This record gives sequence, C-alpha cells and structure tokens, in this order.
Amino acid sequence: MPSSPPSKSFVSAAKGYDFYRTIQEYLERASKIAKIEPYVQTILSQPKNELIVNFPVKMDSGEVRLFKGYRVQHNNLLGPFKGGMRFHPQVSLDDVKALAAMMTWKSALMRLPFGGGKGGIKFDPQSISKAELQRITRRFTHALGENIGPEYDIPAPDVGTNGQTMAWMMDTYSNMVGSAHKQMVKGVVTGKPVASGGTLGRTKATGQGLVFCLLEWAKEKGTTLEGATMLVQGFGNVGSHVAVILSKLGVSTIAVGDHTGYMYNPEGFNAHKLQDHVLAHGSIAGYPGGKPITREEFFATKADIFAPCALENQVGEAEAKALDVKLVAEGANGPCNPVGERLLLDKGIDILPDVLANSGGVTVSYYEWVQNKRSETWSEEEVDARLEVAMKRAYREVSDFARGRKCDLRIAAYGLALQRIEAVYKEREIFP
Ligand code: NAD
Repeated sequence: MPSSPPSKSFVSAAKGYDFYRTIQEYLERASKIAKIEPYVQTILSQPKNELIVNFPVKMDSGEVRLFKGYRVQHNNLLGPFKGGMRFHPQVSLDDVKALAAMMTWKSALMRLPFGGGKGGIKFDPQSISKAELQRITRRFTHALGENIGPEYDIPAPDVGTNGQTMAWMMDTYSNMVGSAHKQMVKGVVTGKPVASGGTLGRTKATGQGLVFCLLEWAKEKGTTLEGATMLVQGFGNVGSHVAVILSKLGVSTIAVGDHTGYMYNPEGFNAHKLQDHVLAHGSIAGYPGGKPITREEFFATKADIFAPCALENQVGEAEAKALDVKLVAEGANGPCNPVGERLLLDKGIDILPDVLANSGGVTVSYYEWVQNKRSETWSEEEVDARLEVAMKRAYREVSDFARGRKCDLRIAAYGLALQRIEAVYKEREIFP
C-alpha cells in the first residue's frame, strides 16, 4: 500500500444541528412509551445545574488567554453526578447539556448509583503544548472548586481528554482539600492511570462494553461476528479499542476515518498497529497501510458493521442513504441525527444505541470508584467479567422492552432508564 495521507473531508451531517433538542425529543417519545408521569419528565427536561467558568491561563509565549469551561449537572437522584470532560473546539453549553442528560439515562440503565453530568472546555488540545494543557486542566479544576467531588460530581475522560488529564485533575483537587483528606478523594475522577488509582480495564472499557453488547446482539440474531467486516469512524479511545478487540474475534476493519480524513484497506487494517500509530502521532494521518478515500466513499463502503466512534451528528440523510451495513453500533454519543436514524431503521439496519452501547465506560468508572473507596485493586479479568455480565444483561433488558412495547432499541433504553428514575421520584416525592 502507498504511504500517503488520508483524504481530508470533515463535513458533519447537518448544519445548525440542535443536539439538545434531539435528546429532548427522545425523552418525550420514551416517556410516552414507558408511561412516565408528566412531572418526572418535566424535572428531567432540564439539568439541575449549569456552570460556566471563565479562567485565565498563561501560555508558553507569555500571553494570557481566557478559557471558557462548562460543567452541567443534569440529575443526581440515584447518586453523584457522573460524566466525562470534553476538550474540543466545538464544545458548547447546549451540547454539554445533551451529553449530561444522556449520562443520567446510562447510569440508570446500567443500575449504577450515579446520576448524570458532563463538562468541557472549548479549545483544541492538539494545538497547544503539553505544559499548556496541564495548566489549562489544573486551572479549570481549580475554577470548578467544590462543584466537583467524589461524593458529589465525578468527571471522567471524553473526547480530547485521557488518563493523563484525569491524573492532573485529581492531583489539583486533592491539593485543594488539604493534606489530611488527600487519600480520601482519589475517586473525584475516574479513568485515571492505574498507578494513580485507576482501575485495570478502564482504558478499553467503552470499546469492550460495546463488543459485549455486539456479541449479545449477534447471539439474539443467531449469527456470528467471525469473518464480519467493519467501518470505524473515529480512531481514538473508543474506536481503536473496538477495532482491536473485534480483530481478535475475527472482525476485519476495512475502512477508518478521523478528523484528518478517511482510509480504505480491503484486506483489513492491522488494528493494533493503527492504534499505536494514533497514540504516537495523534491521528491516522500518515499511516502507511491504507488508500485515502473521501468521506462520501467511506460511508458508501459495503460492510457488515458501522461503528461511529467520533462525534455527534455524523450520520444524516446522505450518510444513512449511503450506508450499506447490517448494524450501526454507536460508540460515540449521538452519532446519528433523527433523520439519519429514521432512514437507517426504514432500511432495516439495526442500531445499538449510544445510551446502551457505550455505557461500558461509565460502568467500569463505577468499578474504579468502588475500588478507590475500598482501597482495593481488582484484576483485569474481574473487571471484564463484571462488565460482560452488566452489558449483556442490559442488552437483553433493552431488547425485551423494545419487543414488548414495539419500539426501537434507543427508545427502549431511554424508557427503561426513565422507569427506574421515576420509581425513585415516586417513593421519595418532591422536596419540600
Ligand atoms: P477521543 O478523543 O479519544 O477520539 C475521538 C476521535 O474522533 C478521534 O479519532 C478524532 O480524530 C475523531 N474525530 C473528531 N472529529 C472528527 C470529525 N469531524 N470527523 C471524523 N472523526 C472525528 O475520544 P473518545 O473518548 O474515543 O470518544 C469518542 C466518542 O465516544 C465521543 O462521542 C464520546 O462522547 C464517546 N464516549 C467516550 C467514552 C470514553 O470512555 N472515552 C465513553 C462513552 C462515550
């Protein structure tokens, strides 16, 4: 294969897309199907708290730049607010609100003692030095102050953040609480590197969870994944682990794409090598094992599975019409917009929805939080075994609900989550 950069084409599916409105519409539809009390739907239609912090950071050049950070705390009825921190130029309050609400549904669906939250900073982490990234992360954590905490609101990695970001956040927070409490606050963030109190199995957890879900889907359909082909959009944490884990099960990734472009290899990419390349260079650009293709050609490539693992609003009308796959497994949050989703379902393409398919991340975050509380270290086998049980059970519950209520899997996942939250509101009632 020639060593050439992937083609460049970054267009999202629909301009002016309102992600938050989409999540509201799912909430409305699922509330009807699951017969949720109107007052519960009203409470869940808005986040509990929306924080915006503006904070200054001295850049390497000596210039002082002001950054805008967000933390949206959607709901904490079932436990502390919980959800990722995104560092990306497109971060906006409304998108963070949508993502925070989805975290509430995921925690409830997975029966975790967490609520939902999400945060982020609007900037491009790839355009600055590591030292600047550290100062931005620490200053943001400081600005959030007591608005986060191991029993109150627990951030984790998301797009543009990773274990290193979490180590800086934890270190900053623990220095703010005073030496006597330092050891007790490790659980203020999850997704930490293992040496800093993280859990084995967390880095790959979202991808691993998606694969467990996929296996249960295949079992239900009476099919096998062995010999299947796959398209992966986004080759960061989630996408690369999905490709690596599935390659061991005989699934061949024949087309990939990220923010730098798209590539095709009919013989299948070596997922391990491509993952190493991305870890070393920050993107798939320059990887020698594939032929550059356009974004349009990527979506038109025939395969068995499409795993969107990048950003929201990637599959709209054109992409859904072009896709020639049997299953869309949503590693990313909100990758299909409602028009794209409708077209896919009308074409008979199954969708494993985000709220179910990528909830392995928050599930293993919970395992990390429990280990931090108990000062325990679980083996990777134990983490994986617990995750497998949790993901497969959730898949079956969602699938049963969908069959029983004659709805799609997304509405079923929302419906189940909403019923669990509603049950608690009914018992506890509204203060005062
Ligand atoms: P990441 O930063 O590790 O990777 C993001 C990937 O998306 C990169 O490959 C990037 O190049 C690609 N990308 C960005 N903009 C793109 C564009 N315009 N077109 C094509 N590709 C683009 O992030 P991640 O942690 O892998 O998260 C990916 C998705 O999975 C997000 O939607 C995130 O919310 C979701 N998610 C992540 C986790 C987790 O544990 N990290 C858990 C649940 C859900």
